[in-house]
Amino acid sequence: KKRIAVMTSGGDAPGMCAVVRAVVRAGIYYDCEVYGCYEGYSGLVQGGDLLRKMDWDDVRGWLSLGGTLIGTARCMEFKERWGRLKAAKNMVLRGIDALVVCGGDGSLTGADLFRSEWPSLLEELVATGELSAEQTAKYRHLTIVGLVGSIDNDMASTDNTIGAYSSLERICEMVDYIDSTAASHSRAFVVEVMGRHCGWLGLMAGISCGADAIFIPERPPSAEGWREELKKVCLRHREKGRRKTTVIVAEGALDDELQPITSQQVKDCLVEIGLDTRITTLGHVQRGGSAVAFDRMLATMQGVDAVRAVLESTPDTPSPMIGIVDGKIVRQPLMEAVKLTKSVATAIAAKKFDEAMGLRDSTFKESYANFLDISKHDDGSQ
Ligand code: ADP
Repeated sequence: KKRIAVMTSGGDAPGMCAVVRAVVRAGIYYDCEVYGCYEGYSGLVQGGDLLRKMDWDDVRGWLSLGGTLIGTARCMEFKERWGRLKAAKNMVLRGIDALVVCGGDGSLTGADLFRSEWPSLLEELVATGELSAEQTAKYRHLTIVGLVGSIDNDMASTDNTIGAYSSLERICEMVDYIDSTAASHSRAFVVEVMGRHCGWLGLMAGISCGADAIFIPERPPSAEGWREELKKVCLRHREKGRRKTTVIVAEGALDDELQPITSQQVKDCLVEIGLDTRITTLGHVQRGGSAVAFDRMLATMQGVDAVRAVLESTPDTPSPMIGIVDGKIVRQPLMEAVKLTKSVATAIAAKKFDEAMGLRDSTFKESYANFLDISKHDDGSQ
């Protein structure tokens, strides 16, 4: 029987439990044994109780849960060759030679490196007497399949990462709460959202909540001009009758001189135009809580495909990453996706938005600037 280990690694995201559930159950369906690797790569490095077989019933009720019940961790040991040697030894001792990793680009890079080193790791373990040649004979090839779990939607080559829509939903819910009190008191709110270097959450929250303005890394405004521009837009919306002001700031927001734009700076501008302004940093509520239907569906379909990809893998094909493109579950070469992610860096939200809007040939700036500035089109109310 094929033995597969499933792990969640890097930052947690709603839908990771649904991934584990899908891999465990699809694995059993396809006549494999599935091991839960607890605490990210630490589970492989430490082995023991952190690497345990999971049965159908073990994942009952996991479909909707937030966070990850098999834990996640930043594992420094795995970044070192000696840590990966320990991991390889633990896997061979358990008879595991396939790994499904749900994490961000760091976790997937680590997985791919592990696979490429695998034959030399086994050789070294035999040479140092840690394992015998007979023990390693069956495990010449390590299969890696990646799934992207991240609230930031920051991976290229896939339209959506698992967890992003749950986080967006949470942000919208919170901004709705804030909006009603803002309108009552005629206040302004600066809402800071997560996303690291990716502005997808900020951009989509801005559109979904009808924000007056957003700041995201993908469209750095002029360092000299953004303050005046912001004041002008917010004042115009007020003049048109809007009783609240909502500005969304992505945590990675920058100006065109690559200086961070902070919530405090944005607040200062709004105070200068006479608005009673508060900052709300949403923080980790964006990461937790149950997964929305889309993430449950994505996690389940991708988890099932991950098991199929394990069974279809050959030593010659590159490790796949399971993505979703135009509504279809697809497999992409994992390292190509990671490389593309690194090369487009802060342009991911821009690219995804342009594609969603069918604006593949236009620049990001053209495609959404007018779109968000509602006062150009209507009376500024929603
Ligand atoms: P994410 O997967 O969300 O990008 P990290 O970059 O923190 O998060 O990676 C999570 C874990 O993956 C790290 O703690 C480490 O164990 C492993 N990892 C990340 N990058 C590498 C690498 N280049 N080589 C080996 N392991 C890595």
